[in-house]
Amino acid sequence: MKEKPIFERKNILITGGAGFVGSHLCDELIKHHKVICVDNFITGAEENINHLLKHPDFEFIRHDIATPLDLEALPELRPFKVAFQGLQEVYNLACPTSPKDYNAAPIETLLANSFGTKHVLDLAVKYRAKFLHVSTSAMYGEPLEDTPFPENYWGYVDPIGPRSAYYEGKRFAESLVVNYRKKYHLDGKIVRMFNTYGPRMRLTDGRMIPDFVKSALANEPLVMYGTPDDRSTYCYISDMIEGLLRMMQSSEAGPLNLGNPEPHRIVDVAQAIIKLTNSRATVRYEPHLPYTAKQGIPNIRLAKEKLGWFPVVPLADGLQRTVDYMRGSRALTLETIQAQT
Ligand code: NAD
Repeated sequence: MKEKPIFERKNILITGGAGFVGSHLCDELIKHHKVICVDNFITGAEENINHLLKHPDFEFIRHDIATPLDLEALPELRPFKVAFQGLQEVYNLACPTSPKDYNAAPIETLLANSFGTKHVLDLAVKYRAKFLHVSTSAMYGEPLEDTPFPENYWGYVDPIGPRSAYYEGKRFAESLVVNYRKKYHLDGKIVRMFNTYGPRMRLTDGRMIPDFVKSALANEPLVMYGTPDDRSTYCYISDMIEGLLRMMQSSEAGPLNLGNPEPHRIVDVAQAIIKLTNSRATVRYEPHLPYTAKQGIPNIRLAKEKLGWFPVVPLADGLQRTVDYMRGSRALTLETIQAQT
């Protein structure tokens, strides 16, 4: 017989909930649960969660997870009755993610993954909540050959390299989760997310797709750091959210890769964006930046077998939806700049 949930609507905590991925997760979870979204806005934005702020089952807490959080002391969380109901699930996403962001805030990135993840794990232990940590493909480092990364690959990374604040932070956080699992018998899970895109990525966050769209809309060259043969993979946000939800509901602990295993030439993506935006822009090649890295391909055999998950949104559709969103967000940004001058 299936176990019945004790509470009809679970209390779910999401760190990094005002970011790109976190805000889409909030949108899904609020349909059936109560959502406590914690974010310090270091890279997230209020626009991403504005539409949820008046929802009676949604509460936003502005807080840096690098310092401990006492949920029961917060008056705004009274309706969630945390002392009585506790927490049932925790999704840990708080971490600057774009290379531009974690290079600007390397210490904050390390602290979000170390002290931050520890504080959130402590909450999960206290309330016996399920805990899902969102890790990254970056912890595998650059691929040495063309075969997709399986989860049992240990990675090839420079512990003090230019991207190390991000991937060493994430590797440390994975170790924390595994050791909390051992010591406290926590139901802790790890997902290794590969490149994901979609609406709500900030046009100025320096990641490849927003950069390309921004340049295309301005009829400026789309700068590709690398060669015409460079490839990457692209998972649309709705596919990724479905994977995260399935992982939380499963009995799997991971680490488990989630990503789109189909590689595309980056230049083809650039050309597709030029076409979708009716732009006059061209593609310009420049040498790799110190913090740009060759992208690996996910092996998603485990996700298929254990979660019945695989991405379904074609790149052309995902790009169309992303460009439509970014066109609107660029108009708003320009309006704000004009209003300020
Ligand atoms: P994002 O930068 O849009 O979101 C991260 C959110 O975390 C932001 O809202 C930020 O303000 C918040 N945050 C950061 N440090 C915090 C702290 N100390 N306390 C509270 N909030 C904090 O990034 P994203 O693309 O939404 O990524 C979300 C998660 O997924 C990250 O952990 C990232 O490492 C992982 N990930 C994302 C991708 C991707 O392609 N988007 C790929 C691999 C892994």
